[in-house]
Amino acid sequence: MEEKGTISIHTENIFPIIKKFLYSDHEIFLRELVSNAVDASQKIKRLASVGEFSGELGELKVKVSLDAEAKTITVSDNGIGMTAEEIKKYINQIAFSGAAEFVEKYKEKGDEKQIIGHFGLGFYSAFMVAERVDIITLSYQEGAEPARWTCDGSTEFEIAPTEKAERGTDIVLHIAEDAKEFLDKFRLKGILEKYCKFLPIEVEFDGDTINNPAPLWTKSPTELQDEDYLKFYKELYPFAEDPLFWIHLNVDYPFNLTGVLYFPKIKNEFELQKNKIQLYSRQVFITDEVKDVVPEFLMLLHGVIDSPDIPLNVSRSFLQADSNVKKINAHITKKVADKLGELYKKDRKGYEEKWDHIGLFVKYGMISEDKFYEKAKDFVLLKNTEEQYFNLEEYKVKIKDNQTDKDGNLVILYTTDAGKQDAYIQSASKRSYDVLTLGGPIDSHFINMMEQKFEKTSLKRVDAEVIDKLVEKDIKNELILSEDEQKLLKETFEKAINNPSTQVSVEAMPADEMPVTVTMPEFMRRMKDMAASGGGGMAMMGNFPDQYQVAINANHALIQKILKADQEEEKARLAKQAYDLGLLSQNMLRGKSLTEFIRRSVEIVS
Ligand code: ADP
Repeated sequence: MEEKGTISIHTENIFPIIKKFLYSDHEIFLRELVSNAVDASQKIKRLASVGEFSGELGELKVKVSLDAEAKTITVSDNGIGMTAEEIKKYINQIAFSGAAEFVEKYKEKGDEKQIIGHFGLGFYSAFMVAERVDIITLSYQEGAEPARWTCDGSTEFEIAPTEKAERGTDIVLHIAEDAKEFLDKFRLKGILEKYCKFLPIEVEFDGDTINNPAPLWTKSPTELQDEDYLKFYKELYPFAEDPLFWIHLNVDYPFNLTGVLYFPKIKNEFELQKNKIQLYSRQVFITDEVKDVVPEFLMLLHGVIDSPDIPLNVSRSFLQADSNVKKINAHITKKVADKLGELYKKDRKGYEEKWDHIGLFVKYGMISEDKFYEKAKDFVLLKNTEEQYFNLEEYKVKIKDNQTDKDGNLVILYTTDAGKQDAYIQSASKRSYDVLTLGGPIDSHFINMMEQKFEKTSLKRVDAEVIDKLVEKDIKNELILSEDEQKLLKETFEKAINNPSTQVSVEAMPADEMPVTVTMPEFMRRMKDMAASGGGGMAMMGNFPDQYQVAINANHALIQKILKADQEEEKARLAKQAYDLGLLSQNMLRGKSLTEFIRRSVEIVS
């Protein structure tokens, strides 16, 4: 008996609305239909396992087929199927009301960007691409009659008896003119590979199996070897280098979360890539934008997270406020901290070898999350210019005696570029000062953080002051020059430098230090760095001239020579040469000044 009917919903014409606003995501129709087919297959499996179905289960499989000529895409399963009554109930009422609810919700929001790109619109997403959908189905129930449902996307439907020998459901999409792009084999395969790669029931398309139905994260960590994790990593990222290590997430209370997070090798900031973590819900791919679910500082990790407890059909702002999402976020942070702590404790040497790659995460995490800081302060490492690693306590102990200044402040010295700041590092090591290497992408923030968190501690770049003032001690070197001589030197240099924003001073320094040292005070340099990176409303600082300090080493032979030179011209020439040497060791001599310096040097040596 054929039956016609009207689907009872209040919202008229929901399909044009759905179509219009989901434009960028039309492809998810396939994910929804294949997921339904997988659900139907799992249901029959469950019924069989509890003895409610005693027939032949057969090989459960979802088949997707394309008939480009007939302009159809068919999703077939041999799951539980539906009776005509069930179609009316599940498709006409439930599925339709789901779609109507979505449109209602959507109308209030009024802005498509508010809606997370992916929502479980379910069965009706088929109408985003089809002008007509047929359901041909045979229920598993004994004596069930096959039924056929047809709907053209209006609220009218038709339901009639049909022929179907095998248990299960075929969903036939008659693809609309404006969705012809989906009648392409490669396009369909691409969509299946994106969303269905790890579905738990075999999915076949064009003779090939699309999925791995038992992906690694669904297994127990105790069953797995290192090779398994590495193999799965290759499956996810075929072209990537092996990861450093991984964390297997496995929680079922108070929320459900499984997954594997990999720490990639990161050598420089150009390799930083966000959106490498894939978010799944019961093995169905949802998105690779895991913002909000994964803490910001871990967005650079790779891998998979699977949780049915993450709401998928809500706006972003709601997602941020969702208590499950918050708990998941906190749990991931804790897990990562625990794993790092464990690696550090178990194998300090191995941890040090990995530090160059993981340091970025640890520092970023310490800066951005207090809870992470509390754990990470025990396993964050500092690396010095001799490539030795220390934890915070070890480092404080190491430098305490030699690098505490006259006011009892601990002074931590660092270089952002050992190659460029070599002269200053050498001066520091003559005093047995230790110099840390802190030139990474977020080290400037890490430096600020250390100063805030550690009492009576300051950090200075090695070229922030002349050596005697880096760590100020009470011992004062005697200036052997008379006041007149000092004045004369100062004037000679000021003339040679010819830059009013440079401050010149005469200092009593060891004779083996450079005759002239050019420095920029730590505070000034940090302000300039901040302005350059556009932070903290410091944009105006960018316009300030660089304020360098030039220290003349009164004890150096060359300075003595300048004082003794009897011609004004010779004094000026030597002063300029000494100043240029200072600039050169700061890597600041360029262009015309460099050429001029070379010319003068040639003149002097010949
Ligand atoms: P959801 O899957 O979120 O429940 P859908 O709109 O996708 O919503 O589907 C509505 C209902 O229709 C399902 O809950 C299920 O009972 C039924 N259904 C859909 N597809 C199939 C299928 N391939 N086999 C059996 N039942 C199905």
